[in-house]
Amino acid sequence: MNLQNLKGIGEKNIEYLYKADIYTIEDLVTYYPYRYQVLKPESLETTLPLTTVTINAKVVDVGKVSFIRKNFNSYRFKAESYGHIFNVTIFNRAFIKRNMSVGKEITLIGKYEAKKNSFVAQDIKLLAIMEAKILPLYHVIKGVKSASLNKWILEGINEDILDYIPEKYQKKYRLMPKKEALLQVHNPTDEKKLYVARQRLIYEELFVFMFKIQYLKSLKDKEVGIAKSFEKENIDTFIKNLPFPLTNDQQKAIMDGLSDLKSSKRMNRLLLGDVGSGKTVVGAVLLYANYLAGYQSAFMAPTEILALQHFETIRKMFQKTNVQIDYLVGSMSKKEKKSILEKLKNGKIDILIGTHAILNEHLYFKNLGFIITDEQHRFGVNQRELLTQKGLKPDMLFMSATPIPRTYALTIYGDMDTSLIKEKPMGRKEIITKVVKEKDLKEVLFQVLEAIKRNEQVYVVAPTILENETNDLKDVYLLKEKFSLAFHEKVPIGVLHGKLKKTEKDEVMNDFKLGRSKILISTTVVEVGVDVKDATMMIVFNAERFGLATLHQLRGRVGRSDKQSYCYLICNEEKERLKVLEESNDGFYISEKDFEFRGEGDLFGVKQSGDMTFKIANLKRDYSILLKAKTDVLEFLQSEKYKSSLSFLEIISKIDFTN
Ligand code: ADP
Ligand code: MG
Repeated sequence: MNLQNLKGIGEKNIEYLYKADIYTIEDLVTYYPYRYQVLKPESLETTLPLTTVTINAKVVDVGKVSFIRKNFNSYRFKAESYGHIFNVTIFNRAFIKRNMSVGKEITLIGKYEAKKNSFVAQDIKLLAIMEAKILPLYHVIKGVKSASLNKWILEGINEDILDYIPEKYQKKYRLMPKKEALLQVHNPTDEKKLYVARQRLIYEELFVFMFKIQYLKSLKDKEVGIAKSFEKENIDTFIKNLPFPLTNDQQKAIMDGLSDLKSSKRMNRLLLGDVGSGKTVVGAVLLYANYLAGYQSAFMAPTEILALQHFETIRKMFQKTNVQIDYLVGSMSKKEKKSILEKLKNGKIDILIGTHAILNEHLYFKNLGFIITDEQHRFGVNQRELLTQKGLKPDMLFMSATPIPRTYALTIYGDMDTSLIKEKPMGRKEIITKVVKEKDLKEVLFQVLEAIKRNEQVYVVAPTILENETNDLKDVYLLKEKFSLAFHEKVPIGVLHGKLKKTEKDEVMNDFKLGRSKILISTTVVEVGVDVKDATMMIVFNAERFGLATLHQLRGRVGRSDKQSYCYLICNEEKERLKVLEESNDGFYISEKDFEFRGEGDLFGVKQSGDMTFKIANLKRDYSILLKAKTDVLEFLQSEKYKSSLSFLEIISKIDFTN
């Protein structure tokens, strides 16, 4: 049955529901209340001042509405509760008066002030609530009355709603039947049952979610790629020619990658490593192996600045080889692009480095065998799939500098194999981090001067105000003025932000890299990956606006050599949260803390694309249920019979794998 069949639903309503992403009966019945209001009638005498209470009352005098100004009115009337008569005021609900009559029984929700004998109501229900009642509260859908919504939902629940949980687990946990659970959630009768119902629906949502991920993984595990062959000796020589010895974790990650390349199973690996842990070189060795096996590869970064930087570092690492390396970014001229595309098709380029914009170009590789994407968390999951379509089942390595809480690793990256780099390269000193109040900025400026005297460089980051782009630019320029003034215009300062033209950006970045400018003031565009060895100080203004994970990323721009580095987090008021960064340089620990403070919605300072939203589950609150669901899904997928079981086929046919 579809939405059209619901009683009393019109074309217009359906349109409104569509706008709220409700397309099917299933969408409708899983449009869950975001909260519940528990109404327990009390008596006026026992109410505490200024607490919200629920009172049963009768109308004594229907009173009148005053229109105070445009869009603002108040309605006053008299009511009685157990012999006590008092005044009631409610704002902006003039329409309620129409339904009022002397003697009518109503329920008032609001605050009573005994001194004035007046009750300010937030809400008035036009019926008496005799015993405790739980009211579901829904996010308003524009154009749809909440009473109609509730009616349609209840009607929908009576239809055939598919239960995704296999029988085995229904029994194991003695789950409430789905229909009953849905009824309870939308029309609760008692708090305990509501809780049980919610737990059941949460488990189901997480079961389906884990199923998707594990099922995709099981498909990927079976995917046949290209078994590549190369001489280990050549790889060793390449590694020996690197300017530094590899850390154990780097070597281990390389081994993982090499064995993936050799195997006929297609590589689908995540390389997870904290900022500055040295992921690029791991990628480089694998690119070389792929080249030795006779295949082309692509290496993608989220920004042009990064792509260019990778192009330069990778080229250096390959100096002693014959590997042909080139790069492609969106802002190149048509002519330049054309020439690259030509060479790519003819196999004259072995490694192509670029932004993910290259996905949109009509690229034809001669024989693409391997793709690396850097800073994976910047790419949507869908983009991952797009990558897959280029070339013949190329091996894929995803690099991410964002250590994510375990919970997230399981969910975002659950369908991949992972290699972890925890160890920092030798000789690195811990970055000293201090939270500084803005009024103590002088001290920081003094340190900046000292650093510049030592011929070191300084990053300054200004907050980005998404709501107001122009404001954001002003902040950067304001700081530029401040700093210029502080150093009497004697220190060369660069300014970088997303609104600059590409050539301008390159120039600013290049000046900083070459040490021609000593201070770089920017928005968070420097957040990812940029590598300037002499930069030893990071100053973040309005640090309280950023998530810990983002600040940790920013801090990762310094501490890239054996020099002592510093990070100053400037804020107006001290924030407990920021202390975590003073205490720790461990990205994994920090991400867990960030998660605790901020929850799942905003983990990277950017809201995750559609694939991370749940209707009723909350990863943080329901983590133990998630783990249970994962275990059950793995067991279910391994059980011999699952393929023929109806529930499996139904699950497969119903699950939307597109997001
Ligand atoms: P990230 O993992 O953040 O991408 P990079 O790959 O940019 O880190 O490496 C950070 C810096 O550390 C680079 O300048 C790189 O040359 C250097 N580096 C990487 N591995 C080592 C190592 N084993 N020893 C010393 N320096 C290293
Ligand atoms: Mg990097």
